Amino acid sequence: MATTDYDVIVVGSGLAGLSAALNALESGARVLVVEATGEAGGASRLSTGFILGAGTRFQTDAGIEDSPDNFFQEYMNLQQWKIQPALIQTYCYNSAASIEWLADQGVEIVDIVPAGEERFPRAHITPGGEHIISVLEGRLQRYDSFDIALQARVNRLVRDERGISGIRVENETVTSKAVVLATGGFGSNAELIDQFYPSANSEAGGKVGYVGSRFATGDAFRLGKQIGARIVRGRGSRAPHSVFSSAYLPSFAVLVNQFGRRFQDESIGYGVGEAVLAEQPDAIAHILFDDCLKQSLRTTNDAKPYFSAGATPVLEPGITLWRSAVIDDFVERGDVLKAQSLEELAVRLNIDKTGLRGTVKRYNQHVKAGFDADFLKDPAGLRAISQPPFYSTAVRLKNFGCTGIGLGITNEAQVLHEDNLPLTGLFAAGECSGGVLGEIYYGSGASLANALIFGRIAGTNAARLAQVS
Ligand SMILES: Cc1cc2nc3c(=O)[nH]c(=O)nc-3n(C[C@H](O)[C@H](O)[C@H](O)COP(=O)(O)OP(=O)(O)OC[C@H]3O[C@@H](n4cnc5c(N)ncnc54)[C@H](O)[C@@H]3O)c2cc1C
Repeated sequence: MATTDYDVIVVGSGLAGLSAALNALESGARVLVVEATGEAGGASRLSTGFILGAGTRFQTDAGIEDSPDNFFQEYMNLQQWKIQPALIQTYCYNSAASIEWLADQGVEIVDIVPAGEERFPRAHITPGGEHIISVLEGRLQRYDSFDIALQARVNRLVRDERGISGIRVENETVTSKAVVLATGGFGSNAELIDQFYPSANSEAGGKVGYVGSRFATGDAFRLGKQIGARIVRGRGSRAPHSVFSSAYLPSFAVLVNQFGRRFQDESIGYGVGEAVLAEQPDAIAHILFDDCLKQSLRTTNDAKPYFSAGATPVLEPGITLWRSAVIDDFVERGDVLKAQSLEELAVRLNIDKTGLRGTVKRYNQHVKAGFDADFLKDPAGLRAISQPPFYSTAVRLKNFGCTGIGLGITNEAQVLHEDNLPLTGLFAAGECSGGVLGEIYYGSGASLANALIFGRIAGTNAARLAQVS
């Protein structure tokens, strides 16, 4: 048996990488994490910290009756079954155990909300990415058999007759019995965006910006290409954004298009909402509200996203900008339009006057009746548009937070070769892999769940392989 420097090398230290490392250590492996930047965490550290899971003890405690099968059926239906069922089954059926494992490490679960397309509240809210990463870093430091190398960007995979057998950082080679790639997405790599995610550039009437880690450089594409790995397509998470820069619209939002018409239940998740918005003329809509609503927005807590229209605390930073004083600033800057009549608003927005008048009249009837007879929006968000001045601000597909295209993997997180067979000794997890997030982003929590679930699977399987080889 050849001597190696480590049993398992994990490349990347976001949630996928640290979950892989901890699970490999729990299985008795000697582990090295290699991180390109000066600190662990990647995009995971920047994240809001929502994680999807079905059938968790936290749901049970909250009286939510859910199951992995509900999750699986909803996920597959949303993706029109254009995604590999066995991979998604693995994802859904491992979600509860993975969230519970994370909580057992010390990560707090503060609430559970519906934050996407789920019928049951399934997004487990943590205090955020910073908290998750620091808890996992603390756990890793307890192991003598763990090392981390920062400022070390892996530029090659090393292979021998058995399979992948190590990595290279500049001119230095470090050997191992298995390698886990957890290098994150490619949002910061314009060339890869043009090649693999062109709709991020074209459907929005302008460039769509990535809000995330500048180290999301898509290195898995380069490393995978060296060894003939298969790339699996999908998309990523675009979200409708306004000057208030929130992925979640406030619950009172009324959206109209160029014809002055509403076109969706404004409370639908952004994964689906972005596709509906993309179909409107110029992929643009306008949020309307009146002075009465504006005057009611006094504190950072007055506007709530749909999922927290009740008592749940507001966690999405952008939503707190919905305040009367901030709106005045935005009017001053020209980012929010203020008009004395709906006709003036329509003219200045260059949208259909008659359509807008009729839409607002009908919407106010829904408000009076307490029932949205057209789009069935949650009555909690029904607020009249009747007191001038009237306001509007544009909503566009401005940003995306993750990419869903990358290395093909098996249910065991083994990386697939172009011939569809797994490459011995190489595993991948999280945003650098493809095939899990699909064509429609399910909702907040889908990507961290991907990193966590397949990170754990990759780490366990890499350690197992190391022990038998
Ligand atoms: C603002 C924001 C909020 C978000 N909120 C949520 C949320 O609430 N829920 C959710 O599900 N998703 C959310 N996402 C998406 C989610 O955070 C990411 O998709 C997820 O964290 C990816 O995890 P990862 O471990 O795969 O990659 P990352 O966390 O990005 O980690 C990859 C690491 O690999 C390193 N690396 C890259 N190349 C190399 C190399 N060659 N050698 C060594 N190291 C390398 C990087 O520096 C990085 O540290 C959010 C994203 C953003 C930007």
